[in-house]
Amino acid sequence: MKYQTVIGLEVHLQAKTNSKMFCSCSSDYFGKEANINICPVCFGLPGALPVPNEEAIRKCIKLSLALNCKINNNSKFDRKNYYYPDLPKGYQITQSDIPFGEDGYVEIEIGDDSRRIRIKRVHMEEDTAKSIHEGEDTLVDYNKSGTPLIEIVTEPDFQTVEEIAAFAKRLRQIIRYAEVSDAEMQKGQMRFELNMSLKTPDLAAHELPDYRIEVKNIGSISVLEKVIDFEYERQSIEIDNGKKMISQTRGLKNMSGETLLQRTKESADDYRYFPEPDIPPIKLDDTWINEIKESIKELPLERKTRYLELGLELEQADIFIEDTDRGDWFDLVCQEEGSNDTKIAKELSKWINSDIAGFVEKRKTSFEKMPLTTKDFLYLLNLLLENKITGTVVKKVIEIIFTTGKAGAEEIIKERNLLQITDESELEKFVDKVISDNEKVVKDIKKNPNAVKFLVGLVMRESRGKANPNTTEELLKEKLDL
Ligand SMILES: [Zn+2]
Repeated sequence: MKYQTVIGLEVHLQAKTNSKMFCSCSSDYFGKEANINICPVCFGLPGALPVPNEEAIRKCIKLSLALNCKINNNSKFDRKNYYYPDLPKGYQITQSDIPFGEDGYVEIEIGDDSRRIRIKRVHMEEDTAKSIHEGEDTLVDYNKSGTPLIEIVTEPDFQTVEEIAAFAKRLRQIIRYAEVSDAEMQKGQMRFELNMSLKTPDLAAHELPDYRIEVKNIGSISVLEKVIDFEYERQSIEIDNGKKMISQTRGLKNMSGETLLQRTKESADDYRYFPEPDIPPIKLDDTWINEIKESIKELPLERKTRYLELGLELEQADIFIEDTDRGDWFDLVCQEEGSNDTKIAKELSKWINSDIAGFVEKRKTSFEKMPLTTKDFLYLLNLLLENKITGTVVKKVIEIIFTTGKAGAEEIIKERNLLQITDESELEKFVDKVISDNEKVVKDIKKNPNAVKFLVGLVMRESRGKANPNTTEELLKEKLDL
C-alpha cells in the first residue's frame, strides 16, 4: 500500500443490567412498545435526580480490569452539553477527564504472530434515544434513552484490516467471558466508531497525520472492514490530488462501506464539559475492586493457551474459545478419567468440531442438551484409538444415541455386535464375497489400481462398518496380486 493507515477505534457497548444508568426504568428496550420505559429522570425534568447504577459501574470496572487497565479510585461523572432530539435533557451524562479505566491493552493474534493494541480509556455513560425516520417525519422512542453504555477507546495502533478484525473479535470474546454484555451486534449492543487517517511519506515514524476522519455507528465487523477499504481509496485519491486533508465526521451511506460527509471539524468540538452537579464524586475502594477482579473467570487468551498446551491445533483452539458451548463441553469430556493426553484430546476436538457439531446443528439442539454424554463419547473414542471399532461405527452409534435420545454406547455396541472384525478368517469371508460379486471391477483393477479403494468401500458396507479399512486393503491387494 502506498500510504500507511493510522486507525483507532471507539467501541460503544451496552452493559447488561436490569435498570437504566441513572433511574430505575427497565433497560430492556429491544422489540418493546415505544416509550413505555420512561420517567422524569430519563427526560431530565426539573427536580428529577439521577442515581448511578452500581451494577453498571461494576461491569465497567470488570471490563476495564479484563482489558488490563488501571482503575481510577477517585472518579466522577460529567455533563457533555449538546442538543439533539434523541437527547431530551440537552446534555449527556458521561465521563470526561477521569474515566473508570485507563492505560490497558488487548493481546491479538494474526496467524502465529501476536500484537498488543493499547486501550486508552474505558468509561461509563448513558445511551441516547432511538430516532425512527418515517417519510418526512422523525419519531423518537425514549426506551433506549439512559440505558448504560460503556465506551472503550483504543490508541491509534491499527495498521491493517486484519488487525481490526482480530481485535473486534477478541474484544467481543472478552466482553462475553467477563459477562459484561451479550455484545450482540445485530441488536446494536456493540457498535464501532472508526478514526482513520493516512500517513504521507514526509512524516517521521513517530508523527501522526494532522487530520482525522471519524465514521460513526458501524454495526458489524464485516462492514467495518469495508469502510476501511473505502476510506483508504477515498483518502488516498484526495491526497494524490494534492487536497489539504481536514478532520471530518462521516456517516455510513450503505452496507457496502461507502461513507458520506456529515460535518467538517475546523477545531475541536465545544461540549462545555463540567462535573455533573447532581452526582457526587465516585470513590471506589480497593476491596471492592479486588472483589471484582477475583470474580473474573478464565479469559479467552488464557483459555487458548491452555488448549495449545494440551496439544490442540490452533484452528481447533480458536473454534473452542469463540464457541464456548463447544469449548465447555470439550472441557467436560476432558474432566472424565482417561482423557488427559494429547493424542486423545486432539481426536476429541476434531470429532466435536466436525461430526458432533453437525449432529447438534441437524437436530437443532445444543451441546448442553444433546443426549450424547461425555462418558459415552470418551468411551467410543477410546475404542476407536485402540482400533476396536472404526470411525464409521463411532458415527453410527452417535446417530443411534441422537435418534433414540438414550445414552449407553457400550450396550449399543454389544447389542448390535459392532466391534471391529479382528479375526482375519471372518474378514476374508467378506473380501471373498466382494471379489466374486464384482468380476468386472476385478478385471479392470490391474489397469486402474485405485479401484481397490472402491472394493474396500464395498467390504466396509458388507461388514456394516466393522472391517478395518487398512487390513481390508492389504488383504484385497494380496488376493488380487496387486
Ligand atoms: Zn427512567
